[in-house]
Amino acid sequence: MRLMLLGPPGAGKGTQAESISREFDIPHISTGDIFRENIKQGTELGRKAQSYMNQGLLVPDDLVVDLVKDRLLKEDCVKGFLLDGFPRTIPQADALDAELSKMERKLDRAINIQVKKEVLIERAVGRRVCKSCGAAFHIKFKPSEIDGVCDRCGGELQQRKDDLEETVIKRIEVYLEQTEPLIEYYSQKGILMNIDGEQEIQTVFEDIITGLRG
Ligand code: ADP
Ligand code: AMP
Repeated sequence: MRLMLLGPPGAGKGTQAESISREFDIPHISTGDIFRENIKQGTELGRKAQSYMNQGLLVPDDLVVDLVKDRLLKEDCVKGFLLDGFPRTIPQADALDAELSKMERKLDRAINIQVKKEVLIERAVGRRVCKSCGAAFHIKFKPSEIDGVCDRCGGELQQRKDDLEETVIKRIEVYLEQTEPLIEYYSQKGILMNIDGEQEIQTVFEDIITGLRG
């Protein structure tokens, strides 16, 4: 199954991606996670991406597209994949289409997680991520068992730099301008699936699975 998750920042893409990739045994490819890992490792790519990310802006298309193309060529993508946070612009979506055509493949579904702005801000501002393994929690909606400590690996939890309220507001604006047009793009291709993302985490997951199997 070749899937992509679409939705504004804080909609729950990463949270759902973890469960979906487990359910279908396909790799979860998050461009945001790849950039954060590069920042942590101090690579050239990380250095280039960091300033855009901290301002709530998108990283330029050419940097993102090349990295996804390389990732899709890896062996584990033969059985399918789940893209999370890519594509985020029409040129990125066209580049993905062209790359998949070369491989004689295509996307099966674009899963659009819908959440209104007020809820997005509360979710993103309250998000805490593990410094070591990247697992995401929420101070109110998905608290870790021990405050500030990752349930998965015991690492330290921290707020993402781009989850400060004013940066989240900027990211939502950027989403509306550059990413929301993809809803129409995938609708026209007949592969869009809309999901109510304002429900409990487990209910959102069940709706996605029902939609994909139906
Ligand atoms: P995205 O990847 O779309 O930016 P995340 O999956 O990281 O979003 O979710 C943002 C925050 O909201 C996280 O702290 C997560 O724990 C929380 N969250 C995700 N889905 C839900 C939900 N359905 N209800 C409440 N909180 C949620
Ligand atoms: P995310 O983890 O998906 O919330 O992404 C965090 C940040 O990484 C975004 O705000 C962008 O700055 C950058 N980023 C992630 N994916 C992309 C993409 N496909 N195109 C451009 N920038 C991206």
